[in-house]
Amino acid sequence: MDFSKLARPNIRSLKPYEAKEIPCKVKLDANESPYCIDITPDKKVLQRLNRYPDPETKELKKAISKTLKVNSDNILLGNGSDELIYYLIITFGGPVLYPVPTFSMYGIISQALGEKNIGIPLNKDFDLDIDKMLATIKKCNPKLIFLSSPNNPTGNCFSAESILKIIEASKGIVVVDEAYQPFSSEKGFLPLLKDYKNLAILRTLSKIGFASLRVGFLIADEGLINEVNKVRLPFNLNSVSQAMALEAFKNKDVIESQIKNITSERERLFEELSKINNVSPYPSEANFILFKTKNADIVFQKLIKNGVLVRNLSSAVKDSLRVTVGTPEENNFFIKALRKSIGGKA
Ligand SMILES: *Cc1c(COP(=O)(O)O)cnc(C)c1O
Repeated sequence: MDFSKLARPNIRSLKPYEAKEIPCKVKLDANESPYCIDITPDKKVLQRLNRYPDPETKELKKAISKTLKVNSDNILLGNGSDELIYYLIITFGGPVLYPVPTFSMYGIISQALGEKNIGIPLNKDFDLDIDKMLATIKKCNPKLIFLSSPNNPTGNCFSAESILKIIEASKGIVVVDEAYQPFSSEKGFLPLLKDYKNLAILRTLSKIGFASLRVGFLIADEGLINEVNKVRLPFNLNSVSQAMALEAFKNKDVIESQIKNITSERERLFEELSKINNVSPYPSEANFILFKTKNADIVFQKLIKNGVLVRNLSSAVKDSLRVTVGTPEENNFFIKALRKSIGGKA
């Protein structure tokens, strides 16, 4: 039976999110934290696995509310921010507008749901092409605009002034995806939430040490949260993740010092990459660095042979690879492997 013929036409042509696990000594491909914090959930949670989890995730919302200084009514929890992107597009539909290259899930989910999606190329500095963005907003009236800032995979923050212009011009919702905000020197858009009803912010625990828990949060106007909450599956966040995330919030100091290590390693890694012939790194405000190199496809394969997995982004940005900032040891290992891979001795 040809199931692909049976699938809806928009699914037939869809390519799944690429998340291949190529076993490698050093894994620097997925923007995870290299540090694992040793926490255990409250034992009571493990003694109640026969019961459904708290459908409203009350305790966790309280912890987030305290940390980010926003009201619980302005928070919606998701099984990763991916799920919240899904819910946003189910709730409001398209057209969905975003710059390219950016996080691929905005496009994949739009297409899966049969919604029109529009990608506007970034300018040569990887910043928003504000004139084209504004013209497209006027012409297509997108229901949703996704702006990942810092942007994945380019690593830079978009100009705050351009983001503001887009929020002001849009009759739809502007989602600023701040998955990498903790690594950025800019202050982000949380303080502007009360000024703009159509602004929504995405955050996640995935890049700061807890990718496995799948905990993301949407922060927005209460009315917006209430609409999205209508499509949320009843028990989308399991009890173990809820409890572990609560524990994570008790370790804010540890997390913050790890983030400091990662950002200072990022600067060192940038310097090291700059010294290598035929390699040019792009400045980054995130926990990864995109870099250009000759014959990126070959270098990518040689890196694997030399024990390091990075992300090949050549299809999005010509001849470029993305490396996640690891521990100092991992970064040293990567730099050595990269020198070997470029030198041709792999
Ligand atoms: C990694 C990433 C996400 C996904 O986060 P999860 O919470 O793990 O689903 C969302 N947005 C961007 C820009 C990302 O890079």
